[in-house]
Amino acid sequence: MPNFIFITGGVVSSLGKGLASAALGAILQSRGYTVRLRKLDPYLNVDPGTMSPTQHGEVFVTDDGAETDLDLGHYERFTGVAARKTDNVTSGQIYSDVIAKERKGDYLGATIQVIPHVTNAIKDFIVSDLGKEDFVLCEIGGTVGDIESLPFLEAIRQLGNELGKQNTCFLHLTLVPFIAAAGELKTKPTQHSVKELQSVGIRPDIVLCRTEATIPDEQRNKIALFCNIPQNAVIEALDAESIYDVPLAYHKTGLDSVICDHFGLKPREPKLKIWHEITSAIKNPEGQVKIAVVGKYTSLIDSYKSLAEALVHGGIANNTKVDLTWIDSSELLNDESLKAKFENIHGILVPGGFGERGSEGKILAIKFAREHKIPFLGICFGMQMAVIEAARNVALILNAGSTEFGQCSSPVVGLLTEWIKDDNIIKRSSEDDLGGSMRLGAYECHLSSGSLVESIYNKGIIFERHRHRYEVNIEYKEDLQNIGLQFSGMSPDGILPEIVEYNNHPWFIGVQFHPELKSKPFDPHPLFSGFIGAAFKYSRLV
Ligand code: GLN
Repeated sequence: MPNFIFITGGVVSSLGKGLASAALGAILQSRGYTVRLRKLDPYLNVDPGTMSPTQHGEVFVTDDGAETDLDLGHYERFTGVAARKTDNVTSGQIYSDVIAKERKGDYLGATIQVIPHVTNAIKDFIVSDLGKEDFVLCEIGGTVGDIESLPFLEAIRQLGNELGKQNTCFLHLTLVPFIAAAGELKTKPTQHSVKELQSVGIRPDIVLCRTEATIPDEQRNKIALFCNIPQNAVIEALDAESIYDVPLAYHKTGLDSVICDHFGLKPREPKLKIWHEITSAIKNPEGQVKIAVVGKYTSLIDSYKSLAEALVHGGIANNTKVDLTWIDSSELLNDESLKAKFENIHGILVPGGFGERGSEGKILAIKFAREHKIPFLGICFGMQMAVIEAARNVALILNAGSTEFGQCSSPVVGLLTEWIKDDNIIKRSSEDDLGGSMRLGAYECHLSSGSLVESIYNKGIIFERHRHRYEVNIEYKEDLQNIGLQFSGMSPDGILPEIVEYNNHPWFIGVQFHPELKSKPFDPHPLFSGFIGAAFKYSRLV
């Protein structure tokens, strides 16, 4: 049985529990331990796939096709361990499984209750599908005190008893705010939060305190005293300049040593070279580029979490600082507004998206990138809009559009009704449920020899993650290739266009998949390294 670390949060939301879990995973790995990270989300949606990105942030897709919480993206980026379907569950999923079992009569006439049926289902999930991992880090979404979290807290409390103290550790993340009027850091919210946790029977072993200033010994002692833990288990999590500073910062505070002590593990020398290299590359860039991201969920930057990080990784690969300008595509109305917005921009990126609103602005931005030979990367919806732009403005198929926006006489992008997954034919229709019905997860893609993408990936077959319902219509392949837009990546059966690129533009690539989901600071995705490299070259020309 692995060692379980349960991570809860208190005081306020948005403290960065996901990031804290991910960074903790990374420092445990640096000591040679294997880790697995999981997230339990208390909300009632079965998965976040149907949630608005501006409310809940990005939907992170795993190789095995699950639509999961964006924290799983942090986990993957910090540890390199590919997240799986079995690493994220919601109350909605738990309840729908329990109710399905009840309907089948599996409970043999019992009265179905939160304790034990729901809590048992949660515990089964936590210990299921594990291999030989040394540590399983299990984050509970939400904030202690939320009604929805109670079954999850009860489940981990029970597991703590069942598996024993030597196999479980409870880490509670809180906020120690600086109150300007008093001129000091305040520990009371942390005391209250721990009290709340104790009221459901969980005594934290470690309290991780987010703070903007160093916590003086006096306050640290106070937290230790009131929370009933040793002083060295009160760990300071000082605000960091970059999220990639966090693993080193945690190590400095002794968090990994406290955890190893807790589990009775002999200390192993940590290997932190990679994190030193990453932070040093971010702090000492040799160049700088400005990238415009033209999307419609720009009001919440978390909607594009993996994308923003992948661009940083592209910067690391090129020793370049990447400045992002977020542009709401609905504000792009004509050539004049484009010129103003794209002044001093060295690369344009149109990310994934859904629905017609803002699509014309994206098409205008793509036209601008094509005509001015500005490096361009279109992702998923961004590729679909690039193909529509090419069809309308270059191939002169004037009614070119996507059936996502309604009936269309030239459906250059159309509903994907049939595709192959692991030798099985998957079928979809416009009547299907919205949840979980897209083409999801990793698919193989074959790259044309001699193409720009082949040189970027330096191989002929790639696997990338998808999340889409529409697809570029292969019927228009010839018309589009004739005007220079090459279909340089295709599904193995040659039916689904996965990548397009212009052969008369220095760097213009559209991809049907989401490369940002696989990028890591220690292994930047080649498309992002290539894009930032091209933007840097362009910045030298203008
Ligand atoms: N809305 C488009 C589709 O479903 C693109 C999706 C996306 O960008 N992820 O095909």
